[in-house]
Order: sequence, then structure tokens, then C-alpha cells
Amino acid sequence: MKTQVIMQQLAAKHPGEAEYLQAVQEVLESIEDVYNQHPEFEAAKIVEQMVEPDRIFTFRVNWVNDAGEVCNNLGYRVQFNSAIGPYKGGLRFHRAVTPSMLKFLGFEQTFKNALTTLPMGGAKGGSDFDPVGKSDAEIMRFCQAFMLELWQCIGPDQDVPAGDVGVGGREIGFLNGMYQKLARRYHTGVLTGKGMTWGGSILRPEATGFGALYFTQHLLHKAGKDIKGKKVAISGFGNVAWGAAIKATELGAKVVAISGPDGVCHIPEGITKPMIDYMLVMRASNRNRVQDMSDKFPESALFTAGKKAWSVPCDIALPCAFQNELSLDDAKELIANGCWCCCEVSNMGCQPDAIHHFQHNGILFAPGKAVNAGGVATSGLEMTQNAQHLNWKAEEVDQRLHQIMESIHEQCVRFGTQPDGHVDYVKGANIAGFMKVAQAMLEQGIV
Ligand code: GLU
Repeated sequence: MKTQVIMQQLAAKHPGEAEYLQAVQEVLESIEDVYNQHPEFEAAKIVEQMVEPDRIFTFRVNWVNDAGEVCNNLGYRVQFNSAIGPYKGGLRFHRAVTPSMLKFLGFEQTFKNALTTLPMGGAKGGSDFDPVGKSDAEIMRFCQAFMLELWQCIGPDQDVPAGDVGVGGREIGFLNGMYQKLARRYHTGVLTGKGMTWGGSILRPEATGFGALYFTQHLLHKAGKDIKGKKVAISGFGNVAWGAAIKATELGAKVVAISGPDGVCHIPEGITKPMIDYMLVMRASNRNRVQDMSDKFPESALFTAGKKAWSVPCDIALPCAFQNELSLDDAKELIANGCWCCCEVSNMGCQPDAIHHFQHNGILFAPGKAVNAGGVATSGLEMTQNAQHLNWKAEEVDQRLHQIMESIHEQCVRFGTQPDGHVDYVKGANIAGFMKVAQAMLEQGIV
């Protein structure tokens, strides 16, 4: 395989799809050596098949806002790959959503889901609907209009959406309500991230953040380090940041920063339980302002406008917000301030040159598709509970999540250990995910 040739062909076919091309390039670079040892992959053109989604649904979503005005949005579902199980992945509601963004996320999801050890294919969907400033009633009307188009493309053995940026428990509720009404048959497992009284799994809301910290613990352990007493900077204040803040604090670390599009809150003494609880209020308000934390806790949370979480000195950086949120300059600033570990929790949270800079400077780095897989893994556990018509207890879900994160770490070590003994987690995660999906595709023929 010649990565450059495939990339040139792909760029010519999909001009301007920057995030998608970035995600593909990262994976192809990592797997090139392994791929070339498997002529059967080359013969079946596995890579050429794998980089394109199976199909993309695009639809118009019309709804009426509180002022009585008609609003138009676009909705999408990218069904990327179903070689190892039904399509699975979140829905993102954000004003910047484009097909390129959802293709990159669906591509990443395919490898991530393969790493979880559970039988799930990869998908992603969403809309350019902007939840910022919207009322609950507007969110409900939008979700209903969105589901009116989506419902025929999804199902428990077909495609199982969940949350992502801008889509949490409230939105999954509105989406599920409309789905059940349209289907006229109760399919418990058609969405994950559901409420506890209607088929949701305990710990699903916390799972992405908890899983990320379990992974970080394994990574630190392997490097002979401990998380206790370490300063952790977290970007964002949404669901993922919230779960990460809970678990980091529980494990004895000090969360010294959270951030938002408006700036950063520096929390010198470490985040407290009331502050973590307040993150949920901030998310539900749809204001998208982290300054609200320092308005509420002016003594402990010091707000600086226009700055990122990476300006706060820390040991461990956890990007938990959006793709490409951590640039080369941010990486340099982090290192200059003493940071020695970065576990990417957001999908593709670090820009490629930031990752290279971390790696060249001996910073422990692990990619989102390994670190954040606990979220979709627990979605997989929710699907299993739904199929069994059972609810497991928190201990059981947490124990399985632990095992899954440990197994993902092991896969990274197995496929990413370099001749000098250090672990390249980017390579490890990409090769492990790729090998599983490629093998499954090969065994099922050209379809
Ligand atoms: N959106 C999450 C992710 O990026 C979760 C997807 C899911 O639970 O299906 O993995």
C-alpha cells in the first residue's frame, strides 16, 4: 500500500473534506507496515473499501422555533462499516457539523468499536442544528423532526445511535419518544444513553469519562507512575468532561482547569463535588459559557477570557471537548509548564503536529479512539441488557467497563510496542482496530 497514493485519490474524490482526510491519513500511516505484510488485504483492496462509508443518508429537517419562525437544518447518518456488528455511534448536534466531520467521526468509530471487544460496527450522524440558546421546547421539536426522517434507517440489529456533542440524555429522550411513536412497536435497544426507567444502563452517562481515567491509570501504571496527587487540566465542561472530573477526583488527582468556548476556569485547589454537579446545570442551560462556573464559585474558579485549559500548568492534559482543540502551540505551552502526559478523550482532539511534538518529546500520549472507547463500550453493554430484558447493577457495569478498558490498553501495548520498548499508543490502537475489521471484511467476501 502506498499511503500517499491512496490519500491523493481520496483528496481528489472528496475535495475540502479536511477532517475526514486527516483521520484517514493518521490511520493509514500507522498501519502501512502491517498492511504490507498481508498481501491478501491488498488483493481484496481492503483499505480502499474501508476508507469509504457504506452509505450516507442526508435529509432536510424543518421545525418551528418559539417565535413561530420556520427553521431549516440538515440531518445526516453516516453508516460507515458493519463488518463486525450493527452500525453504532453517536449523533452530534453542532452548528459546524458537515458530512466531512461525520465521515471522520464514523471512520474513527469503526476502529474504536472494534477495540471495545464488543460486536459493533461504526456509524455517526447528526445535524448542523445549534443547541446554544435554544429552549427545551425547541430542542424537543427539533429532535422530533429529526427522528421523523431518521427512524427508518435505524433499529436494534441495524443501526443504534447514541449521544455525542450537543446530544445528551434529554435529546435521547425526545428522539426515543418520537421513534417509538413512529415504529408502533417497542424496540428498547434502538438508541443508547436512555433514561434509567426506559432501558438505559446505569453508568452510561459517566462511562466515557470513567473509561478514560481507567485507561489513563493503566497507561501510567505501565510507565511506572501514579495518578494520585497529580494536577489534571480538562477542556470542556460537557458530559465527557464531567465524568472525567468525577473519576479523576475520586482517584486522588486534582482537576485544576475546565474550559469552554469563552475561556478557562483555573481551579487552583482542585474541583469540588458541588462544582462538578454544577457542570450539569451549565450543560442543561444551553448557554455554552464556562464563566458561569466562576460566577457561581468566585473564590475557587478563576476565569480568564479567551484562554484554553492548556494555559494552566498541569501534569496530565485531558482534551474532552472537540476535534483539533489542542494545537502545536498548545502542546509547546503544556510541556513548558511541566505537562508529561496527554490522554485524548475527545475524538481527534489533538492536531497531528501536536501529537508528533508530544511523541518527539517523550510525552505519554494516547489517542481518543482508545481513551474514550468506554462510552460506546457501555452503550454496547446497554444493548446487551436491552436484548436480555434485564438491568445490571452499577458494580457489574463498572467491572465490565474496567475489563474493557484494560483489554484496550493491552491491545495498544501488543500492537504498539516499539523495538526500543516504548509503546506507541497511536500505532497500537490503529493496528489493533484495523486488523480486526480487515479480517472480518476479508472473511465475508467482496460485498
Ligand atoms: N459519541 C460517543 C463516541 O464518540 C458514543 C457513541 C455511542 O455510544 O454509540 O464514541
